[in-house]
Amino acid sequence: MASPGVPLSGELVKELERIPDGEKIKQCIQCGTCSASCPTAYAMDYTPRAVIAAMRAGQLEKVLRSDTAWLCASCYSCTVRCPAGIQFTDMMYALKRLGIKHGITPKDDRGQKLMATFVEDVDESGRSSELWLMAKYFMRTGPQAALRDAAFAFNMWRNRRLKLVPERVKAAEQLKAIKRALERRQG
Ligand code: SF4
Ligand code: SF4
Repeated sequence: MASPGVPLSGELVKELERIPDGEKIKQCIQCGTCSASCPTAYAMDYTPRAVIAAMRAGQLEKVLRSDTAWLCASCYSCTVRCPAGIQFTDMMYALKRLGIKHGITPKDDRGQKLMATFVEDVDESGRSSELWLMAKYFMRTGPQAALRDAAFAFNMWRNRRLKLVPERVKAAEQLKAIKRALERRQG
């Protein structure tokens, strides 16, 4: 749940200020080009166009409870095609940050769990290993789902597209130090 008294709209404004051209959200003309360009819009409960409208109307909790940001594949199609120059993809990252910070998740929180697992993996070793990423993810969301993907994973391994041993970058500790420094800087 959101922390009591947290001014979410004010925090969103601060997040938008961090994004280059974040203030352009005011120039949305609701043309729907972003929604029409989005490869995952069909699965979202609110389309990109509807999310922009809700953000501008101050309905931030509604936006954070939706699965839109978590289903965004960061393909940037909406961003490059938006006639108003709105950085929609970066805004999706801002919404994810706020959702995590305040513990506001959509009903179906698998997207958030996948991202949390990915971030932990990268934090630990500097890169993610597909096999271990999915193993940890399925432990969080229900191991029975792993059975459905087992044949697919086996085929990937057989075609040398899946490594069994997780890899670690040489400078993983330095990477952690950089991350800690950035977090301190952002407060
Ligand atoms: S493409 Fe840009 S201007 Fe059009 S609805 Fe989406 S965000 Fe608004
Ligand atoms: S960046 Fe995200 S919201 Fe934009 S078109 Fe791609 S998947 Fe959709």
